Amino acid sequence: MQTFTFQRVDDPAQAVRLASASTSAQQGASVRFIAGGTTLTDLMKLGVEQPGQLIDINHLPLADIRATPEGGLEIGALVRNSDLAQHEQVKRDYPVLSEALLSGASGQLRNMASTAGNLLQRTRCMYFRDNLSACNKREPGSGCAAIEGIHRSLAILGTSQHCIASNPSDMNVALVALDAQIRILGAAGERTVPATEFFLLPGTTPERENVLQPGDLVTHVVLPAPVSGAHSGYLKLRDRASYEFALASAAVVLHIEAGQVLDARVALGGVGTRPWRSAEAEHALIGATANEATWQAAASAALAHAQPLPGNAFKVELAKRCLAHALATVAKSA
Ligand code: SF4
Repeated sequence: MQTFTFQRVDDPAQAVRLASASTSAQQGASVRFIAGGTTLTDLMKLGVEQPGQLIDINHLPLADIRATPEGGLEIGALVRNSDLAQHEQVKRDYPVLSEALLSGASGQLRNMASTAGNLLQRTRCMYFRDNLSACNKREPGSGCAAIEGIHRSLAILGTSQHCIASNPSDMNVALVALDAQIRILGAAGERTVPATEFFLLPGTTPERENVLQPGDLVTHVVLPAPVSGAHSGYLKLRDRASYEFALASAAVVLHIEAGQVLDARVALGGVGTRPWRSAEAEHALIGATANEATWQAAASAALAHAQPLPGNAFKVELAKRCLAHALATVAKSA
């Protein structure tokens, strides 16, 4: 059993101070913030995560959802997934987010899982979760067992020869489609990063999944005001109807007037090494006639640069159909 210290904090600045001090004093020994613990405790039991220090942030004042002066929403890092999915303003103005959240995990897990924890979910790659397998993400430089092994559920977009792990979160796909911003408190103060820039491609350093630095605390997710006249939705395809990760998913925000697409924001899940915002699909959509041919063209554009392996080649067609169907469904509701 790996021993660790456990400390509860009640002030965000204190949490950052403690994490930053511990990181430098222990020369890189891992410090983790814990909220719902639905990912972290799993990985600690498997020995994949072995923090020397846990900082319990459940008592920080970050559990509220507030309207912003700009007409958007500020979501505290500790807001539980169930509460966020059922929030009246989220259901009304950002249905893509509510639908994505409700498609993830189980009711019990959503009651525990926090917004920031969902944002930072680790991959479900089976080799990452098995300490005996080669995995560059878990142990840099050890290799990638998935490339020659079982990779049916893994990514076809944004991969590298060092890692092909897919980002498992549904919520993250909706957040990048909504142009959400991530607010971070660090040793140098507060900063805000667009969700589209928060997640990193694996490249040669798959162990780095996002822009957070040691000691950084995600405090809020901020949604911009909803685009007037836009409609949104989330479609998730998976092996079973609940409690399962996406093989392919699509988050779509469409603004259609007089049969023409005025604005479109598209993101894919289950197929990317990060929640995959598709500029190619949006380019094919904006200004085009709202019809089936346009949905198909956008879907083809979104997957044009896919690099599948033999075990996940089926995802190219699956993701295309998923996106085309999501676009058609959202367009019908417009
Ligand atoms: Fe590890 Fe990534 Fe390879 Fe999976 S795909 S074994 S997470 S390096």
